[in-house]
Amino acid sequence: MTHKIFETLKSLIQDVNEACDLKQALNIIVTRTRQVMHADAVSVYFRDNNTDQLVLMATDGLNPEAIGKIRFDLDQGLVSLVLTQTEPLNIKNAHAHPNYRYVTETDELAFHGFLGAPIIQHRHALGVLVVRQTRQRRFSADDETFLVTLAAQLAGAISHAEKMGELTKLLTDANHDSFILKGLSGSPGIAIGEAVIVFPPANLEAVPDNVIAEDEIEDHIRAFNHALDDVENEFKELSRRLQDSLSREELALFDAFCLMLRSDTLVDTVIDRIKSGQWAQGALRETISEHVKQFNAMDDAYLRERAADIKDLGRRILMHLQAQQSKPLDITAPVILVGEELSVSQFAEVPLQYLAGIISTQGSASSHIAILSHALGIPAVMGIEDLPVNRLKGQRIVVDGYRGQIYVKPTTAVLNEFKRLIKKDELLDNALKQLIDKASVTLDGVHIPLHVNTGLLADISPSLQSGAEGVGLYRTEIPFLIRDGFPGEEEQAHIYQQVLQSFAPRPVTFRTLDIGGDKALPYFPVIEANPFLGWRGIRIMLDHPEIFLTQIRAILKSNIYGNNLRLMLPMISDVSEVDESLKLIHKAHRELIAEGMAVPFPLIGLMIEVPSAIFQMHALAKRVDFFSIGSNDLTQYLLAVDRNNRQVAGLYNCLHPSVLHSIHHIISIAHQHNKPVSACGEMAGDPASALLLAGMGIDTLSMSVGSLLKVKWAIRSFTLKQTSELAEKALTMENVTDIRALVNQALDNAGLSELIRVDSIEP
Ligand code: PEP
Ligand code: MG
Repeated sequence: MTHKIFETLKSLIQDVNEACDLKQALNIIVTRTRQVMHADAVSVYFRDNNTDQLVLMATDGLNPEAIGKIRFDLDQGLVSLVLTQTEPLNIKNAHAHPNYRYVTETDELAFHGFLGAPIIQHRHALGVLVVRQTRQRRFSADDETFLVTLAAQLAGAISHAEKMGELTKLLTDANHDSFILKGLSGSPGIAIGEAVIVFPPANLEAVPDNVIAEDEIEDHIRAFNHALDDVENEFKELSRRLQDSLSREELALFDAFCLMLRSDTLVDTVIDRIKSGQWAQGALRETISEHVKQFNAMDDAYLRERAADIKDLGRRILMHLQAQQSKPLDITAPVILVGEELSVSQFAEVPLQYLAGIISTQGSASSHIAILSHALGIPAVMGIEDLPVNRLKGQRIVVDGYRGQIYVKPTTAVLNEFKRLIKKDELLDNALKQLIDKASVTLDGVHIPLHVNTGLLADISPSLQSGAEGVGLYRTEIPFLIRDGFPGEEEQAHIYQQVLQSFAPRPVTFRTLDIGGDKALPYFPVIEANPFLGWRGIRIMLDHPEIFLTQIRAILKSNIYGNNLRLMLPMISDVSEVDESLKLIHKAHRELIAEGMAVPFPLIGLMIEVPSAIFQMHALAKRVDFFSIGSNDLTQYLLAVDRNNRQVAGLYNCLHPSVLHSIHHIISIAHQHNKPVSACGEMAGDPASALLLAGMGIDTLSMSVGSLLKVKWAIRSFTLKQTSELAEKALTMENVTDIRALVNQALDNAGLSELIRVDSIEP
């Protein structure tokens, strides 16, 4: 490619990246490409997955009226050929091609030269970018490279637009009745309710659109003006406080900020937008984003840098607006919580009894928000990238947590079908209740205790009622996540005591703080390029012995109800971490004894969830009393598949042969040292996987409370011998599909086919 074309392409791509939405990006692409290539028409077509057709989305040169109307089936015409062949097509005279199809609306007869490039993202053909010429023209190799590069860029923009919900908005007519969106199953079950949207505070980009009524306009203008006053006062106060430390020139910056704050272009534009029916926060987002773009586009480097100031200003105004406008959600009926990246603290915004379902644009089944939903029995669908969040407020939605799909504005027929399925689930749940008091034993009498995973006080009573024999994993980070600062020793001890007391004499396994990864504490930010490979779990604790010791002291001193405490360390990747942790645990214990608290020293266990620990099992077994397999992380680290990343969720599977062989190895070595092994990842709650774990000799299974009776049913339906044979066979298999088929068949043969659908954790 010549230098000049390369430069043109670079500047075009920059403009596309700066476009405020997909529509604008498409328009920039078609108009600029037409100029650069001296073409007579440039158009973009998208694939509509609902109808399996290509739709004209933008054009410069064809009839603009045809946008959204021209649709090709995938076996029709040259444009579809580019999509299905996933290859560029460069034809001198399109009329002579056997796939040529005449379309009246776009006056196809006028064009002969045709160059098309597929728009591909992650192996999926999303659409086609087409350049046309009236005369016969074979486009050059440079033209082809240009178009292919641009199409790749467009793929990124489309994928971003999917995330922002714009794609669905563009593809589905605003009044379109009902539509289905696919994501990933986060937590099984079906929920029906109205959508409530939550978004993170002080994040301008996350502010959704919100239409306000005529009589609300004045209130929003007033709130905006108030926010401006607040920010101005904040600047004045800052300037006053810093006047002794800064020079006059530096202090003048605050005056410049105040001028910017009161500039007509900012104030009037926001107010005009409010008057046209957008709420104050949305009007601010649109205006700031427009200003940022204008500054970014300036040639002068100094002015370009002002874009950051404008953004900062916008964020400050937003914070004050949100402080005025945030009202607690008034919820009195079942709702579906919808958000871009739901956090554990946002859970708390809806009273639990009304939280029917969860939808998140980010994450997957093994994200912590999904695990929490599962623990609470709330159906969840994760990773719906093209979720039109802005359009969902107040809509009725069906969340199908089994298949990872949602139905927006469902038809009566769809609604009735889901109501029928909810009834069916209730019947199964009720039928399973008769197992609550029955032992978790195999048909040949081997007892496999079933424990629960918890972390919320809210699920203690359901856990107790389910007949759980203990807590196999208490995720202590959850109380930390829903607070504004680190809870102190007494505050922690108060929580731990309630858990230990409620379950006594049953064992409760407290896992020490496992923050980092996708569990960032709002008040202890850890910004890293690869958080799951970074400062996480025990690594943070050993670097912050003051936090670790406070927690250990709080846990140890809570053990006053019958010595039912067990302590577990997460993310162990090396024996030295165990040695250092044990030193600190002994230190905390000695301190408590010296303070007159005669608390017993608990059993200590390790989570095996990092591959390096698998090969140190002998050394680790000499140091501790028990092990627990964290299959969620073990799967992520063994398979190199980020458990939160939707793009690779299809590769994440705990039934992968390598995961099964690792588990088999962990259990055999632990047993050689007479140390018991539990499994506490989501895998333990999947009845089919639980059978394999039992067959490999697992001593205890720990899971979300909602899975407990289903797993008990499975355990009680097989002999241990049968599960061992099943595991032995699975360990000879080479892929997940065969293993899943094997266990599902076993469930089916035993008359447990309902468990295949009900609790399959396949993505
Ligand atoms: C696991 O990794 O399997 C586990 C149980 O811990 P968490 O999901 O909290 O990381
Ligand atoms: Mg883990």
